[in-house]
Amino acid sequence: MTNSLFMRIRDRFPADLSSVLIETPSGKTYSYGDADVYSARIAGLLTAKGAQKGDRVAVQVDKSPEALFLYLGCIRAGLVYLPLNTAYQAGELSYFMGNASPVIVVCQPHREEEVRSIAKEQGVQKVLTLGTQADGTLMSGAEGQSDDFTPVACADEDLAAILYTSGTTGKPKGAMMTQMNLWSNASTLEKLWGFRGDDVLLHALPIFHTHGLFIACHCVMLSGSKMFFLPKFDRDQVLDLLPRSTVMMGVPTFYVRLLAGDDFTADVMANMRLFISGSAPLLPETFTAFEKRTGKVLLERYGMTEMGMATSNPLVGERIVHTVGPALPDVDVRVCDNDGNILATEEVGVLEVRGPNVFIGYWQMPEKTAEEFRGDGFFITGDIAKIDGKGYVHIVGRAKDLVISGGFNVYPKEIETLIDKMDGVVESAVIGVNHPDFGEAVVAVIVPSADQLSEDDIIASIKSQLANFKVPKRVFFVDELPRNAMGKVQKNILREQHKALFAN
Ligand code: AMP
Repeated sequence: MTNSLFMRIRDRFPADLSSVLIETPSGKTYSYGDADVYSARIAGLLTAKGAQKGDRVAVQVDKSPEALFLYLGCIRAGLVYLPLNTAYQAGELSYFMGNASPVIVVCQPHREEEVRSIAKEQGVQKVLTLGTQADGTLMSGAEGQSDDFTPVACADEDLAAILYTSGTTGKPKGAMMTQMNLWSNASTLEKLWGFRGDDVLLHALPIFHTHGLFIACHCVMLSGSKMFFLPKFDRDQVLDLLPRSTVMMGVPTFYVRLLAGDDFTADVMANMRLFISGSAPLLPETFTAFEKRTGKVLLERYGMTEMGMATSNPLVGERIVHTVGPALPDVDVRVCDNDGNILATEEVGVLEVRGPNVFIGYWQMPEKTAEEFRGDGFFITGDIAKIDGKGYVHIVGRAKDLVISGGFNVYPKEIETLIDKMDGVVESAVIGVNHPDFGEAVVAVIVPSADQLSEDDIIASIKSQLANFKVPKRVFFVDELPRNAMGKVQKNILREQHKALFAN
């Protein structure tokens, strides 16, 4: 039996447990000692409620320090943490509870009644609540528990978390993350990105997702540093806290929003040593504008729920625009065709990843799991990519976004890149829409910066540069693209909006 994930993280806490782990925007602080004590009490409570090693605990709560302590309490007790986006509605919750059969659900106090009735239907025994002010039955129940809960021993291959990921089609799948998956990625990244005890991370991401929960919080806890914990991205709060921060992790939208005002200056961030971007593609314009404005170079990295991080531009060395950098030290990447043949440098195909960070499969979906792994252990990411001569990975698009028009494959990214370069365009999303003749027709949705653009101009310009089957049949202008909490463009919403476009 090796050390559990919790024990390994706990071993990295600073010797002085009064050191600050979390500071909220109002200035309230929580120490490493608090994380130790509250995780012990929560582990005690969950165990007293009947949860045993390997049981799932589903958590749909707002971001708060106690929500992080709940995660720590779960892994301390050998339980499997199952975070859920607060945006999920009753039907989705019902699916997750039925699929994962957690023994306990922790929900927002105002949704207790609704969650209780779903839990009852799905046979989930216990419901606890946690609000943003430490209110609710989780923390009140934890009050009477011991401050000294002996961590449950776990093997490397034991589960630590299940993260649901929806992809673009089908039912959400629960990615099973082991103790070693999370530990290997955490320890690699903490070192790779040079985390130090005196770092201060500006944390404005949600913590129901791998980026905000594992990548960000693990780097902080493993280095014994501190984080400003914002309930969500708030531009004014971020600007206010930047002068006292050293590292920020964000989705590209954060950086676009920061750059939107002149008050985001080199002076404001004089103390910052690192800005990391990921979870969605960073536009080259944003990368360039950021450097021009601040004199600092954004570090873009690439990952996925199923594997945490897989590649990263370097801390020291060349950070190349429009690339996500080389594979992490203990991770292998390759680009293959659909049959699994390995492609040469610069050739475009599907990115495959293997390493200690890669999940072990989808919860109770052995066929799905088998479909997405090669025999030699590589996970087929579904991202279209190429690897250049320096070993840097370029993400070219998403296989599932592929449009097939008149039998020809169209990669939306190729068209989006052309449109994004046009004067007067902020950004674009290209989708496939059912078409009686072509099967699917290419449609572009554009956010313009000025109103001189016309549909005809866009179509004419693309026609002069690309094969006819790639030219959008229609172009729409919108104020903004629909995005999820992680900054990803929700193409499914755009497809839904335009699905009847060519119906007759
Ligand atoms: P998620 O599972 O929500 O973390 O989403 C993972 C997906 O986000 C990947 O499969 C990629 O399609 C996309 N992604 C993450 N990081 C990047 C990046 N730096 N550039 C482009 N796409 C990214």
